[in-house]
Amino acid sequence: MHTNSHWQNWSGSIAPAKARLENPRDLDALAKLIRDATGPVRPVGSGHSWPHLVPNDHLIVQLDHFNQIGKVDTATKRAWIGAGACLHDASPQLAEQGYAFRNLGDIDVQTLAGATSTGTHGTGQSLQALHAEITGLRLVTGTGEQLEISLHRNSDRLDGARVALGALGVLTEIEVQLVERHKLRRRMWAEKHDTLLACAESLWAENRNFEFFYIPFSGFSFGLTHNIVEAEDTPRAPDSSDTEVMQLKALRDWLGWMPALRKFLLSRAISGSRIVENVVGESWQLLSSQRNVLFNEMEYHLPVNTGLDAMEEVRRYIERHRRDIFFPFEARRTKADTGWLSPFQGEDRISIAVHCYHKDAYEFLFSHVEPIFRKAGGRPHWGKLNSLTHDGACALYPDFENFKALRHELDPHGRMLNSYLADLFEVQR
Ligand SMILES: Cc1cc2nc3c(=O)[nH]c(=O)nc-3n(C[C@H](O)[C@H](O)[C@H](O)COP(=O)(O)OP(=O)(O)OC[C@H]3O[C@@H](n4cnc5c(N)ncnc54)[C@H](O)[C@@H]3O)c2cc1C
Repeated sequence: MHTNSHWQNWSGSIAPAKARLENPRDLDALAKLIRDATGPVRPVGSGHSWPHLVPNDHLIVQLDHFNQIGKVDTATKRAWIGAGACLHDASPQLAEQGYAFRNLGDIDVQTLAGATSTGTHGTGQSLQALHAEITGLRLVTGTGEQLEISLHRNSDRLDGARVALGALGVLTEIEVQLVERHKLRRRMWAEKHDTLLACAESLWAENRNFEFFYIPFSGFSFGLTHNIVEAEDTPRAPDSSDTEVMQLKALRDWLGWMPALRKFLLSRAISGSRIVENVVGESWQLLSSQRNVLFNEMEYHLPVNTGLDAMEEVRRYIERHRRDIFFPFEARRTKADTGWLSPFQGEDRISIAVHCYHKDAYEFLFSHVEPIFRKAGGRPHWGKLNSLTHDGACALYPDFENFKALRHELDPHGRMLNSYLADLFEVQR
């Protein structure tokens, strides 16, 4: 049973794909789909990425039936999880067994395979991105073969397969290193941006998770920390971040042409509310939130010694030239790992994200913001807006050629490539 997909990504920035959409029930059906394909086959998760990773005119494969949460091995604290499982569904099932993901990003509606395949991260100086917690992968390769890559089998390929953009095959199960279920205390506070910027390094060093959001045209940022505690859950007010973003939009709509008045009103509103949240809850319930206001986003992962300066350069550019911007910028930090295509490969990185309302123009991200990030040595988030080419990726990733060789070995006929990926990996078709 199949349908025409009209698949689109979350923000609607990609035109509907013409490909057929298939949702195979088991491994045999998935392998047959790949073997019988006469054009590109692209796996999709929850569609929360911006680059053209998925669209093609032949076949999109969804993994809804590959969503089982395995039993956690209590000796290793690892579990095999269906690649199509949504993180939000996996977390409560892991909690029932007494375990949790070590860290999560801002949202948790991604699938496990989708999140890890683009290098999805949270924040924390001592915490790695989700793909670094992978201890095993099972996939159907571009030739329809089943393959396990893990600490025990084909282990020399594990770093190559951690972040793979769905270019090696379709992942069906992923073994993840977990931690014991735990509670976090979440604190959010408003602070003058310059003050927070000056303390950022020590806040990263002193807190398990620290990030901050700069409110454009305000001079103020919000700091956010999470630390492990043993305490009772506290009541939480309903998440109001969508409403607050729309209030920032309203202020932009009314006063965008009067930046001084906009700044005056914003600084009065923000400085009046210093500690805005102080709550305790399960880690997975606090780390991720809902994001219902659609936006387009560029995020770059920068060396620690250039990250915040690059953020400042972007902030100055936007406050001088882009009065239409109202979404907060976000600054996070992630520990290094060894994945060949991991943006955190080899060194800790500070991630800076700039968001635009989905109905607003975002071309300036490419023309004015991306060059600042590139000049500062940034690597783009694979799942967010970027214009990285094959040559650019070769220069940024020491193992890019190794990844290309692995890709060729597992998918010699380029079955898993759409035109975007064929260009990225410089494959003639
Ligand atoms: C509102 C919002 C908030 C976000 N917050 C964060 C954040 O805090 N941190 C962060 O790092 N990122 C964040 N992202 C980016 C997001 O985590 C990534 O783009 C992620 O890849 C999306 O997962 P997905 O399940 O939607 O995958 P998709 O976008 O559907 O696919 C992503 C990639 O995974 C591949 N893939 C999917 N399934 C499989 C499979 N079974 N086998 C092989 N390959 C597969 C696809 O082919 C594609 O290349 C956010 C995005 C949005 C829209």
